[in-house]
Amino acid sequence: MKKTVTLEGIAQDVHDIIMPYVAVNSETSTNGEKSSEEFVLNYLSGIPYFNQHPEYFGAYKIQEDLLDRAVTWGMVKGQDSETVVLLHHNDVVGVEDFKTLRGVAFSPEKLEKELMKFADKLQPEARKDLESGQYLFGRGAADMKGGGSIQLALLKRYSELQEMKGNIIVLSLPDEENTSAGMRAAVNLLTELKQKFDLKYVYAINSEPHQRKDANTGMLSEGSVGKMLPFVYVRGFLAHCGKIFEGLNPLGLLTEIAAQMELSPLFSDKVGGESAPPPTWLYLRDRKENYDVSIPLGAGGCVSVLTLDSDPPRVLDLLQKVALKSFETVIKRMNERYRVFCGNIGRQVEELPWKASVTTYADLLNEAYAEHGDPFLHSYEEELKEVCSKISNGELELIESSFVLVEFVYNYISDLSPRVVLGFTPPYYPNVSNLLLDERADEERSMADTISDYSFEKFGQRYDREYYYTGISDLSYFALKNSSRIGEELNDNMPLYGNCYFIPLEEIEELSMPCINIGPWGKDFHKMTERVYKQDLYERTPALVDRAIKIMLKHDLMANCQIK
Ligand SMILES: [Zn+2]
Repeated sequence: MKKTVTLEGIAQDVHDIIMPYVAVNSETSTNGEKSSEEFVLNYLSGIPYFNQHPEYFGAYKIQEDLLDRAVTWGMVKGQDSETVVLLHHNDVVGVEDFKTLRGVAFSPEKLEKELMKFADKLQPEARKDLESGQYLFGRGAADMKGGGSIQLALLKRYSELQEMKGNIIVLSLPDEENTSAGMRAAVNLLTELKQKFDLKYVYAINSEPHQRKDANTGMLSEGSVGKMLPFVYVRGFLAHCGKIFEGLNPLGLLTEIAAQMELSPLFSDKVGGESAPPPTWLYLRDRKENYDVSIPLGAGGCVSVLTLDSDPPRVLDLLQKVALKSFETVIKRMNERYRVFCGNIGRQVEELPWKASVTTYADLLNEAYAEHGDPFLHSYEEELKEVCSKISNGELELIESSFVLVEFVYNYISDLSPRVVLGFTPPYYPNVSNLLLDERADEERSMADTISDYSFEKFGQRYDREYYYTGISDLSYFALKNSSRIGEELNDNMPLYGNCYFIPLEEIEELSMPCINIGPWGKDFHKMTERVYKQDLYERTPALVDRAIKIMLKHDLMANCQIK
């Protein structure tokens, strides 16, 4: 048993983990995710410390999960209550883009050999990196079994200590590439562990890969962007194409709203020198199922909004204003064009009857309830159950479900004049940043600078700091303010919330801890040429993560890393 953690030989340890870890095909939303879980559980059971302390590791089941997935976790328990949480996801994105190389996507050595055969067809940078031998290629090598392997190797090192001050927990999570069911369940696991072992969470470290503008400067992120997915449903007024001024085409209005919102700086939060990437539409279509000569009755779309400090009530409020203005613009334009048309055929002009009207999903529900009372409520609840079971069977897409529900409610609404209905579709990732935390200890405040200085001294490499990782990550579920305000909004306007989608918001607010992303340099995530820089993977990043742990747990810093 040792008294200090050294990093001698850590490169070999990381290598011995990452090769078989990548070899597990754990494509997100498939049974393969269970194999990642087994891999991590196996690794932990092979560590003597966990043999002696079976209560310090396990697989924590995700409730009502169709794939029966679990969060795998391990904890090295020290004397004090201070606890650092390391997290990584063990699912990966699909491999469609590997085409003929799908069979070797999970075998870095074979993949590199195959890629060499048509190196001249790769992007110049990918080719150069491939030929240099300095990168490890393979699905998940960078995103993020590289970071995961570093965490697992470090956990083992810490488990060999005779005495430790604080505690370290490693979470290995499924479903990050989808709706983060793993992390949302892990919030409850962390809450249970806190109570059972009297823990105090002081810091969370994620190890997603980072990208670089220049080879000598890395990036540390002290937070993560938020993401929400508002839906816009437009109910038009049906008409035959030949009598078009008797109707209102919902596509005309939806596309106006889409144009107003697409890349709009209005929705791009600014905090310090950082700005959220502006919104973009992920889905936009009419609700018509078959061709006929009428205009569609309804149309719907979903827009992705990334946030730095906006919450769902604020975004919905802004969206309401944009939708109302767009509606007025469309009515004005229709009247202008109607006047021209009437002039052409010598008809007397009358103002068209349309009025701009925008409502929230909650108000639409209230309207149906006011008209039909409890019978409506009962059948609505039945419909919700049905929709949820279709989603879990894969018969219905999350996005589509919001529109199915709006149209169901519309069966109980007697006011059929055109209007816009707004709400949210899952998932929701709160924005999180150390900047927004009220109290921060000195070592937290200066963590990025300390790590950068340490890296410069040790490896001649500087790290910049950003307050928001823009790649969207599980760190979103590590801190929250105003959980009740957000919970109310989701209850009201995200139809699936509390039924087949849920976030333990209060628990997150209760756990709130500062966080950082310290990961290896990687490139082309989600592409066939995904790769991670070996020197970071095997040497530098383990040292930086180790340093951050030692700072937070007040370990002997002098004992740091002899690296081989
Ligand atoms: Zn990732």
